[in-house]
Amino acid sequence: MLDDLQDGALNPLLNLGFNIPFEALSPAHVEPAVLALLARGRQNIEAIETETAPATYANTLGRLDSATAELEVAMTVVGHLESVMTSPELRDVYNRVRPEVSAFYASIPLRPLLWQRLKSFGLTAEAAALTGPRARFLHKTLEQFRREGADLSLPQKQRLEAISRELSELTSRFGQNVVASNATYELLVQEEARLAGLPPAAKQRAREDAKAHGQEGYRFTLQAPSMIPLLTYCDDAALRREVYMASECRATSGEHANPPLIAKILELRHEQATLLGFKDFADLVLADRMAKTGEVARRFVDDLSARCSVPFQNERQALLAFRLELEGPNAPELERWDVGYYSEKQRQALYDFDSEQLRPYFPLDRVVGGLFETARRLYGVDVRPNDELGRWHPDVRAYDMFDESGVKIASFYTDFFPRESKRDGAWMNCLISGVSAPGASSVHLGLICANVTPAAPGLPSLLSHGEVETLFHEFGHLLHLCLSKVEVRHQVGTNVAWDFVELPSQIMENWCWEKEALAQFARHHETGEPIPDELFAKMQRARTYREATAMTRQLGFATLDLALHVEYQPARDGDVLAYARRVAQRFAPAKLAENHAMIASFTHLFSSSVGYAAGYYSYKWAEVLDADAFTRFKREGVYNRKVGEAFRRSVLERGDSADPMELYTQFMGREPSLDALMQRAGLAA
Ligand SMILES: [Zn+2]
Repeated sequence: MLDDLQDGALNPLLNLGFNIPFEALSPAHVEPAVLALLARGRQNIEAIETETAPATYANTLGRLDSATAELEVAMTVVGHLESVMTSPELRDVYNRVRPEVSAFYASIPLRPLLWQRLKSFGLTAEAAALTGPRARFLHKTLEQFRREGADLSLPQKQRLEAISRELSELTSRFGQNVVASNATYELLVQEEARLAGLPPAAKQRAREDAKAHGQEGYRFTLQAPSMIPLLTYCDDAALRREVYMASECRATSGEHANPPLIAKILELRHEQATLLGFKDFADLVLADRMAKTGEVARRFVDDLSARCSVPFQNERQALLAFRLELEGPNAPELERWDVGYYSEKQRQALYDFDSEQLRPYFPLDRVVGGLFETARRLYGVDVRPNDELGRWHPDVRAYDMFDESGVKIASFYTDFFPRESKRDGAWMNCLISGVSAPGASSVHLGLICANVTPAAPGLPSLLSHGEVETLFHEFGHLLHLCLSKVEVRHQVGTNVAWDFVELPSQIMENWCWEKEALAQFARHHETGEPIPDELFAKMQRARTYREATAMTRQLGFATLDLALHVEYQPARDGDVLAYARRVAQRFAPAKLAENHAMIASFTHLFSSSVGYAAGYYSYKWAEVLDADAFTRFKREGVYNRKVGEAFRRSVLERGDSADPMELYTQFMGREPSLDALMQRAGLAA
C-alpha cells in the first residue's frame, strides 16, 4: 500500500490540477508527496545552476519563479486541510514535514552556484534593459538573497543557520509556554453572589465549564470568552483583580517561564541583523516593507501617539469623573482591572446601544449577496455559483468570478461555519496564483474562511455587525487575488509588503458603515425592512467611544515592539520585564502593577522567528492607508464605478508588481495622510 502511494498516479497531491480532489486526499498522501515535491524543487533549482547557456531572464529568474510552485501549492492545500478538517493524523504529518520544507526554502539563498548565476544575469545587457515588474523582481530577488545571507562567508552562513535554528526552537517554546500557562490556570467561584453583574449566559457557561471539569461552582479561565465578560461585568473588584493579574503574569514563573527566552530571542535577533549588515533587527525586517526602516516606523508611531495624547487623557478623566458620579467623592482611583468594567457602564449610560439589535438585519445569505453586489458595482465583476468544483465539507460553497467581458478570472470557496475540526478566526488563502502573460492568463483559485454564528432552529444564520465586517475584510483580501493581473508569480495578489497587505481588506470594512451600502444588503430577515434610522444613528454614535484609549493601547504595543527591537540594550537598560513595564506605563489607562509582565505572553512578537516582531505598527499603518484611501470613495461616491476602476487598476490588479507607495500615490495622487484616520476615529483636532 505504501509503495502504491509513492506512485504519482495514485497520489493526488503529486499532480494537483485546478479542481483539487479534497475528498480523496488522506494524511497518508502527505509525506511521500512532500518528499517527492522537495526533490522536484531541488532538481529545478539545480537545473538553473547547471545551465550552460548564457544567463537570461528566462533561464534564471523565470525558472526560479516557478521552481517551487508545485511544492507551494501542495503545502498550501495540506495546511488548509489542517486548518479546516484537522485530525490527529493530519496534524502529525503536517508538523513532521514542515521543518524540512522551511529548511529547504531557507537553504535556497545560501547556494553559491545559484547566487552566482543570478548575479551574472544581473550584469547582462538584458537585465539592465528590464523595466516594470521584471526589473522589480530582479532587484527584489537579489536584495532578498543578500538579506538571507547569500553574500556571507561559509562560517558566517553556518552561524546564520545556527541562529535560525535556535530562534525557531526558542520561539516555538515561547508559544507553547503561553498555551501551557493558559491551560493550567483556573478560578473557581463557589458563591453565586460574587458573580453579581455577570450576564446570565456567561454565568451559565462558567457553571457548565465547572461541571465538565468535575467541579462545583463556576469555573473561569484566561481564554477570552471566559475572562472578558468577567472583567467587563463582574461587580466584585477582587475577582476582577485576580483574573486580571493572572492574565498579566502568564508564563512568568516556574517551568513555563518566558522571560529568559525573551532575553535570548532579542539577543539572537540582534546578532542575526548585524551579521547581515543591518543596524538592528527592525532595519532587517522592514527593509522590504513600506516603512523601510525602524526609524520611519518609529516616527509614524510617535506622530500618532502625540495626536492621541490629549484625547486619551480626556477619556481617562471622563471615566474617573463617571466613577465619582456613580460612587461619590470618596471613590478610589481607577485600577487596571476597573477600566473595562467602568467603561462598559459609561458606554451604556452614554449611548443606550446594544449591538445585538443589529443582528436580525444581517442574515448570512443577504450579506454574501451584498459582498458580490459591492464587487459588481465597484469593479464590474460577476460572481456565479460553481457546482463542479470538489469541496472539503458540505458547508463549503464554490463560485466563479467573471470580468466585465465575461472572461473567467477566478474561482473561490467560502467556508463560514465553525466545526470541531476547524481552527478559530477568519482568513483568506490563495491556493493557485494565476499569472497573466500578454494574450494568455491563468485563473486564480482562492478561499475565504470564517466562523460566524450558525443558523439556530427556525432561524437563518444571523450575523453580528462585527461578523459582517469580518466577511467584508476577508473578501477584500480575496479580491486582491482574484483581480490580480501580474506576470511574475511571486508578485501575484497578496504577496505584498506586510504593511500594505491589509489595505485591500480593511478598506472593504468601510462599506459596512455606509448607509447606502447597508440599504442594499442589511434587511430584516422576517420583514425585509432596512435598519431603522434611529438604530443606524446609535450605531454611528457608539462607533468612536473611547477610541483614543483603544488607539493608544495599540500604539503602546507598537512602541514597545520597536523599543525592544531597536533601543533595548541589556547592559544599559537592565531587566527586560522592568524595561517593558516602563515603556508600557506611558500608554496604560491606569497604573500598572509592579509585577506586570505582559510581554511574557506577547505571542505576536515572540512565538515565531519573525511574526509581528518589529512589525506591530503595521496594524495602524494599514488603518491609515484604508481610512485615507476611502476618503476618495466617500467624496466621489461609495459606489462610484470610476473610483472603483481606479482602485482596481492602481492597487487590486497590481499585486507586488510595483512599489506599494507608488501604487498608493497613483490612486490618491499623493502620499497617505494621518488625518482621515483621526477623523474616522472622532479624534480630529
Ligand atoms: Zn486581513
